[in-house]
Amino acid sequence: MPDDHASSREPLPIGHCDRGLPARRVRVLLPLPLPEALDYLVPEGTSLPELGSFVRVPLGQRSLVGVVWDGTGEELADERLKPIIETLNTPRLQPELRHFVERVAAYTMAPPGAVLRMTMSVPEALQPPRPRRVCAASPGGRAALAGAPMGTRLTAARRRVLEILLNRPSMPVAEIAQLAACGPGVVRDLIAADLVEERFASSEPPEAPSPDWRLSGPALSPDQSVAAKRLVSGVQAGGFGVTVLDGVTGSGKTETYFAALATALAAGRQALVLLPEIALGAQWLERFRVRFGVLPAQWHSDMSAAERRDTWRAVAAGRVRVVVGARSALFLPFPELGLIVVDEEHDPSYKQEDGVIYQARDMAVLRASLAGIPIVLVSATPSLETVINVARGRYQRVALPRRHAAAELPAVRLVDLRREHIARGHFLSPPLVEELAATFAAGEQALLFLNRRGYAPLTLCRACGHRFECPSCTAWLVEHRFTGRLLCHHCGHAEPVPACCPECLTAGALVPCGPGVERLLEEVSQRFPAVRVAVMVSDLLSGPRAAAELAQAMTERRYDLLIGTQIVAKGHHFPMLTLVGVVDADLGLAGGDLRAAERTYQLLHQVGGRAGRAEHKGRVLIQTWMPDQPVMQALAGGDRDRFLEAEAAARRQAGLPPFGRLAALIVSAGDPDTCDFTARALSRAAPQLQGVAVLGPAPAPLAVLRGRHRRRFLVKADREVRLQPILRDWLSRVRTSGSTRIQIDIDPYSFL
Ligand code: ADP
Ligand code: ZN
Repeated sequence: MPDDHASSREPLPIGHCDRGLPARRVRVLLPLPLPEALDYLVPEGTSLPELGSFVRVPLGQRSLVGVVWDGTGEELADERLKPIIETLNTPRLQPELRHFVERVAAYTMAPPGAVLRMTMSVPEALQPPRPRRVCAASPGGRAALAGAPMGTRLTAARRRVLEILLNRPSMPVAEIAQLAACGPGVVRDLIAADLVEERFASSEPPEAPSPDWRLSGPALSPDQSVAAKRLVSGVQAGGFGVTVLDGVTGSGKTETYFAALATALAAGRQALVLLPEIALGAQWLERFRVRFGVLPAQWHSDMSAAERRDTWRAVAAGRVRVVVGARSALFLPFPELGLIVVDEEHDPSYKQEDGVIYQARDMAVLRASLAGIPIVLVSATPSLETVINVARGRYQRVALPRRHAAAELPAVRLVDLRREHIARGHFLSPPLVEELAATFAAGEQALLFLNRRGYAPLTLCRACGHRFECPSCTAWLVEHRFTGRLLCHHCGHAEPVPACCPECLTAGALVPCGPGVERLLEEVSQRFPAVRVAVMVSDLLSGPRAAAELAQAMTERRYDLLIGTQIVAKGHHFPMLTLVGVVDADLGLAGGDLRAAERTYQLLHQVGGRAGRAEHKGRVLIQTWMPDQPVMQALAGGDRDRFLEAEAAARRQAGLPPFGRLAALIVSAGDPDTCDFTARALSRAAPQLQGVAVLGPAPAPLAVLRGRHRRRFLVKADREVRLQPILRDWLSRVRTSGSTRIQIDIDPYSFL
């Protein structure tokens, strides 16, 4: 990747100050939602910072770190400009990444500074590292260890400390004490006795060993080899190209793309793997370690500030070669990126719904194209967008049609709930109960999938019909029995479950309606008292480690049954799991989401794919009220391609993505009148153009969220239309007042 040379692309001095000397200006993009970069002066005697340099500048009363940017803006007189404070000694932001920031901003219509903020999300990482005190054995210490008479008798603990220091790089007192299993006092005494010397060192953490691409992975199957060769040759050839690794669950997609990673590493490039829920990646991490000898660097929201700081710096300096991360890892400052892999590319969590609203999979393709590198999109159920891009010849496809080794795909059976008799307040049909019993009897494991946290989705009063609603959202409160609270799943509002109805004061009249995972646990425990059950839901796990431990316990067969929401659907590989029961397959089909059917297919297929991944054949039972729905038929018949064809035909007909373009405008305000006022103004100014339709305003399904009233517009356009300029023009013609906000969501995935 060519770097920019300051000499050729530096912003030229613009204008002159009164004394006739050329003023030296730079444009600086700040990590703030400002419309554009700001101009600053470079003080005499300091060298002009190069494009991409991090500089500290004043803004109002504050000082902030920004990046030297190109382009021109409004020309202010020199007198009105402030000088930059300093240029930081941090690797510059590469032209590729600066370009990426601009393109993401232009596409999502977010201010460039808001996108920049995602690339410099760890402000501490930009500060020069603070020196830290480290210790090493002194000549005296060495002599003492060697047995020279020093007048100091070495206790066992002191000896251990010296031995550790002799064999390792210098380290801080606390670290040695920990390694030597002694108190820090022992080390301090050694320092006082001149056997250990303490000095300052730069605080870059010691270099972590790089993944070793020379290690050989497992022998690939013939299918896998063919697929791996295609990916590898893409990496070797270099240049931008999108390859879809489309393989059934359990076909070994991970091992296959590891081959491409190894090639990128061998070529001296960095690699990025995006996973939807890094928190659930314990098994993935372990497989990486087995394949490459060390763990990769990670990037996700659950990291400490220090870990983020170290990782950001190490990525920027090229010391980290592979990062596995959640969507925000896409904005890390890799200087030598050679490959991007987006695993589970269809996953809806790649869409970021607040702040800068973007689809990380799509933006990953953009970054790969700007960097001129290959990208691999991996899935057992590729998104329709991706499938159509393959059909249009824009993406290459590589297939893994069979499960690895002896494993077969599970047999899927629909349970028609219209025909089953299920007692009130119960949710497991007789066929599912029977299969569970058979599974436990055979000493195998089962998974019950229900995408609903809590005990019951709705609680009402039997006496007066009162329903519990969130005070700040248009949503019912969900009862959580484990914690004894009623909870809003949209804003987090929580209140205790009252003893009597707050409306009619009748005691003991509150009834739960519908199932949640906690209620399912109750039913299962009554039916199978001896069965060991684990519940896997985000609100009951205290973080990635807890999730990993639970997965480990499941692998070791310390549980017979796992009950969970969608967090159980992904990535897990439990060899003894042979039965998957989907409790309510229709849940995701309600509502007007254009991707409802597609998502239901992906999710249920993925969950079903947890069954029978080793030598034992798997079974999947899907409980549904709508067995004739094309989605259910496709799941039962294993006919993905026919389902996708039908979906594609319906969307083409309706002009919906990926055959047409969509954007949503969400107007929100603290009170309904202000909100409607702006919505009406927008409506009057709406574009009237060939090929563009504006629907709305309509109250959003979540008409109130966190106390803000919301109205939605949906803009629908032909695929050839570029929506951004149209939207920009539209918004420029409407004034908003006070608390009103207009959010733009290009390619919306959520219609709430
Ligand atoms: P997918 O991601 O396609 O669902 P995985 O990559 O999880 O499939 O592979 C399923 C299982 O098969 C894993 O336990 C993996 O380690 C194993 N596996 C896949 N390919 C091979 C191989 N070539 N040799 C040995 N084990 C393999
Ligand atoms: Zn709420």
